[in-house]
Amino acid sequence: MANCSNCSAPLPQNSIRCDFCGSRNDVDLKGVHYYTTHETDSARTCPRCNIPLKTIDLKLDGKFLIERCDECLGLFFDPGELEALLEATVTNVFVIDRSRLGNITIAPNDYGVSYVKCPVCAKIMNRVNFGAKSGVIVDRCKEHGVWLDGGELRHLMEWMKAGGKLLDQERQEERKKAEAEQERERRDKITQMPGGRYPDNSFDDYGSILRTEDPDLFHIIKKAVDFFTR
Ligand SMILES: [Zn+2]
Ligand SMILES: [Zn+2]
Ligand SMILES: [Zn+2]
Repeated sequence: MANCSNCSAPLPQNSIRCDFCGSRNDVDLKGVHYYTTHETDSARTCPRCNIPLKTIDLKLDGKFLIERCDECLGLFFDPGELEALLEATVTNVFVIDRSRLGNITIAPNDYGVSYVKCPVCAKIMNRVNFGAKSGVIVDRCKEHGVWLDGGELRHLMEWMKAGGKLLDQERQEERKKAEAEQERERRDKITQMPGGRYPDNSFDDYGSILRTEDPDLFHIIKKAVDFFTR
């Protein structure tokens, strides 16, 4: 457990704000040891505090600019930057440590469920789960990037170290396999129906079958598709 850098009291598990002295602890960028600030005011605004964000340079393989709020210590990343930062700072992870993953899944967030505006376009951002079992719900604007509240980056680094990303990839592969299996089963069932013919390609070709001149074929396929996709 981390301690407050101001008064050394233990920090609450899911917060970067000290219960005793009230100061916020900057835990996120401690793991980035080549971290150098290049602070300049940004035109972007903190979605929590409504003050201008500061642009800082993490000097990651050259210039790597992100935005940070001095007040709440939240961070804003352009699309792809958060993933790049995690890749660069957490390396050599080869095993999925499930018990460790189980322990870090409580998100450090002082804000509860709340929606925030994109610092660039001011549209309400989407809340999306970041990876399997990370416990972090990030605020994402599809066009402009991702907002992390203070403490969440630290949490995502822990998640990466425990093999969270590997678990993610494993699950995606399992999902793909299961989908392929389902597709094969559907296909088998249709071809086994009397008169049921199934195109070589997948259901993407359903549309072209519906334009067929053969009314019988149309009905058979349509019935089958409706039945199996219900
Ligand atoms: Zn304190
Ligand atoms: Zn702020
Ligand atoms: Zn936006």
